[in-house]
Amino acid sequence: MRFFVTAEHEKERLQYFASPEGRNDLYQYNQKERRTVLEVLEDFPSVQLPFEWLVQLVPPLKTRAISISSSPLAHPKQVHLTVSVVSWKTPYKRNRSGLCSTWLAGLGPEESISIPVWFSRGSLPPPSLVLVGPGTGCAPFRAFVAERESQSTSEATAPILFFFGCRNEENDFLYRDFWLSHAQSGGVLSEEKGGGFFVAFSRDQPKKLYVQHKMEEESQRIWSLLSSGAAVYIAGSSTKMPTDVMSCIERIVAKEGVVPKDSAVRWLRALEKAGKYHVEAWS
Ligand SMILES: Cc1cc2nc3c(=O)[nH]c(=O)nc-3n(C[C@H](O)[C@H](O)[C@H](O)COP(=O)(O)OP(=O)(O)OC[C@H]3O[C@@H](n4cnc5c(N)ncnc54)[C@H](O)[C@@H]3O)c2cc1C
Repeated sequence: MRFFVTAEHEKERLQYFASPEGRNDLYQYNQKERRTVLEVLEDFPSVQLPFEWLVQLVPPLKTRAISISSSPLAHPKQVHLTVSVVSWKTPYKRNRSGLCSTWLAGLGPEESISIPVWFSRGSLPPPSLVLVGPGTGCAPFRAFVAERESQSTSEATAPILFFFGCRNEENDFLYRDFWLSHAQSGGVLSEEKGGGFFVAFSRDQPKKLYVQHKMEEESQRIWSLLSSGAAVYIAGSSTKMPTDVMSCIERIVAKEGVVPKDSAVRWLRALEKAGKYHVEAWS
C-alpha cells in the first residue's frame, strides 16, 4: 500500500507498520482487530491501489462448514441448518460480526437464493450413541435423532443418550419441543427405549452447570452403553468443551469400569482408533 499512498502522514504510518518497531502495533491493528481490506483502505484514503493489485491481495472467501441438522429420511430434498450469528467486541471495543452467519441471518424467510454447497455424505452409524452437543453443537444430532426416529418406525433401533447445554432455559434452549417430544414415551430419546435427553442450563443458577456435570450424573448409563459398543459424538462451538468432555468420559470409564485412570485413558484411545469417538468443534 505504501507504494500507492500520496498523503505524507498515511505514508509514515504505513512505513512504521512495515518496520520491525511497528510489528506489534501492526498485529494489534490488523489481526487483533480483524480489520477487513475495505476498512484498511478507508483508514488510508489517499491510497490509490490499482484494481489488479487489489484482486491479487484480497484472499478468496473461505468456505464455511455447517453441520446438516435435518435427516434425509424425515425431510427428503431439504437441508436444515442451525446457524448461530457470530458477534464479538475487539480489544478496541469495536463491534464485529461473522461474515456468513450475519449474511444468512439477514435473509428473509421467503427469499430465494442460490449458494454453492459441498456435501459430505455419511450415514447414521447403527450402534448405540452417546451424543454431546451444547449450543449449535446440537445441529448434527437433530439430524441423528430424526433419522433414527424414522428408522424406528420399521426396525428396532439402538438407544441414544443426548446431552445438550445452553445458557438459559428461557432464551436459548434450541429445538426444545423437538427434544422433549422425542424424550417422551416411545420416542428414540425415551427411557423406555434405553435413551435419554439431559440438558444443562449453565446460567440458570449461581453455580455454572455444563454438559459434563450432567454426564457425571448419568455415569452408569453412559458406561452401560459404552461397554456394550456405543459410539460417542461431540460437537460444538468451543475448543475447551471437547477436552472437558473427554476428561469427564475418562473419569466415568475409570469409576464405572473400576479401572485405574491410565487404563481408562487407554480404553478411550482404543475407542477413538476404532472410529467410535468423533469430535466436531469450531470456535
Ligand atoms: C465441522 C464444522 C461444522 C460446523 N457446523 C456449524 C453449525 O452447524 N452451525 C454454526 O453456526 N456454525 C458451524 N460451524 C462454524 C462455521 O463454519 C463458521 O465458522 C461460523 O458460522 C462463523 O462464520 P462467519 O462467516 O459468520 O464468521 P467469520 O466472518 O468467519 O468470523 C468468525 C471468525 O471470528 C473469530 N471470532 C469469533 N468470535 C471471536 C471473538 N470473541 N474474538 C475474536 N475473534 C472471534 C473466529 O476466530 C472466526 O475466525 C462449523 C464449523 C466446522 C469446522
